[in-house]
Amino acid sequence: MPGSSEQPRHHVIAIDGPSGSGKSSVSKAAASTFGFRYLDTGAMYRAVALWMSEHGVDVNDAEAVAANVENVVLASGTDPLNPGIFVDGRDVEAAIRTAEVTSAVSAVSAVPAVRTAMVARQRAEVEEAVAAGTGIVVEGRDIGTTVLPNADLKVFLTADQEARAARRAAQDEAEGRGGEVEATAESLAARDAADSSRKASPLTKADGAIEIDATFLSFPEVVAQVESLIRGVQ
Ligand code: C5P
Repeated sequence: MPGSSEQPRHHVIAIDGPSGSGKSSVSKAAASTFGFRYLDTGAMYRAVALWMSEHGVDVNDAEAVAANVENVVLASGTDPLNPGIFVDGRDVEAAIRTAEVTSAVSAVSAVPAVRTAMVARQRAEVEEAVAAGTGIVVEGRDIGTTVLPNADLKVFLTADQEARAARRAAQDEAEGRGGEVEATAESLAARDAADSSRKASPLTKADGAIEIDATFLSFPEVVAQVESLIRGVQ
């Protein structure tokens, strides 16, 4: 419960890691435990990629993407139990998780103008949470390195590629989006390579981040570790 003497009050928590490491589920669970807000920054980049595809902008044309990013009317919810993501007022939660958007998103997120626009929005969400006296868990790829280098706690969540592919495929199957482990492994590897090698804010462990390797940990074990780290923040 926020506000009780045993719980942290308005902490800013950064959780980064590669695809399929379990960041989203872990971040939502921890945010919900402490009554914190939750921001899924990957959903924001996915929403921009969706908008570009729907408006006929070639996602591999960095100039065209940069020229259009300010036209994307984006709203991100921050309730960990039901975050929600909206483009032009439309709920796009399902639309941003398709294989098409997943394969387009790394090109879009590598465009510096896109990153500048998203980082500004992400920082504004954090400022709003802090001003409202609540904590926030922000998850992504560059939160600890670029967006919030002064976060109260930085976690880098990893798992080996096989474990991540198996986890993501199971999640896709449960949500009715296929779920083929081999294809998922290929898509994860391609996205990780692109996200880690790009010039603008590549995925990397931030200075001061605490790494958790989830390969052999259950979901409740990872959540418990993260919550214990949050409790330890002074
Ligand atoms: O977390 P998720 O898999 O939904 O992220 C989708 C994509 O958004 C990533 O592959 C990456 O290209 C981009 N991303 C990013 N920076 C973030 C979060 C996500 O570049 N902070």
